[in-house]
Amino acid sequence: MRTRLLQDPADAAAVLRDGGLCAIPTETVYGLAARADAADAVRRVFKAKGRPGDNPLIVHLGDAGEADGVAHVTDVGRALLDAFAPGPLTVVLPARPGLPPGVTAGLDTAAVRVPAAPLALAVLGATGPLVAPSANRSGRPSPTTWQAVVDDLDGRIDAVLQGPPTDVGIESTVVDATGETPLVLRPGAVTLDALRELFPDARTVDAGAEAARRSPGVRHRHYAPRARVRLVTSADRAEPAPEAAWIGLSEPPRGYAQATVCDDADDYARRLFDAFRRADRAGLGRIDAEVVPEVGIGVALMDRLRRAAQA
Ligand code: AMP
Ligand code: MG
Repeated sequence: MRTRLLQDPADAAAVLRDGGLCAIPTETVYGLAARADAADAVRRVFKAKGRPGDNPLIVHLGDAGEADGVAHVTDVGRALLDAFAPGPLTVVLPARPGLPPGVTAGLDTAAVRVPAAPLALAVLGATGPLVAPSANRSGRPSPTTWQAVVDDLDGRIDAVLQGPPTDVGIESTVVDATGETPLVLRPGAVTLDALRELFPDARTVDAGAEAARRSPGVRHRHYAPRARVRLVTSADRAEPAPEAAWIGLSEPPRGYAQATVCDDADDYARRLFDAFRRADRAGLGRIDAEVVPEVGIGVALMDRLRRAAQA
């Protein structure tokens, strides 16, 4: 299959309405979009990504009002959507029957999100609900540029909508809103503190059994470059080498093949996955990633860094 590069969201919408697969930019990462109501297109998403069949897909909506079409919107879910949609928050709700089986991966819940990126909204306005998991080959870091999508999926999908590098750089916060209080299943740019302003009892589900049961995706190997990731507490612990890369907030000592020095934790999150991919393209064996304080986006950033370092 020849993968077309598109500039116009109307062209992307046409591919999708026909049941095709088109990667689109959102504010978090690029998503591999397909019609959420088309079982065949949804199956092709799993195939193109090599995604494990037990990992459900987030349904992207152009407007929070469309959530009622795919899920039973709980009071908690309604409040979260009112406060954070559009934005980098995914809300898990009891699923309505009739969704293609791949969307929920057999769970009785459906995850919905309204992205904030103008190009994503332009596409969604012309298509209706779309599944859009990160547009990478399963197991690779999520793509934050259209070029990263092409590197992973060229020849496997119908089209890529070329947009700017994504703004947030890491995947959405996933919150279970099926109960009385929100449970964070995956940290992201919408922080626990922000959720607690609405719901003081909101909490994060401990990584492990409960998280895996509620959100199978968190079990899977994720976010990992081929290079070995080593977490370092400060630039004093750096070990520069010609086959190693550095990423962090501090200026490292000389001698790294690549060094990404970020302005702050938001900038670090924005640049992390691209730095992983750049190190892999250069065939580097090791990435030294400086740890950050676990406040604000730092919580989500450390989650991704730990997963990458474990892999
Ligand atoms: P990705 O779109 O590749 O960033 O991955 C989607 C994430 O959302 C995975 O971690 C999934 O486990 C999670 N997710 C999607 N749908 C559901 C659902 N119905 N219930 C719980 N988690 C979900
Ligand atoms: Mg993903």
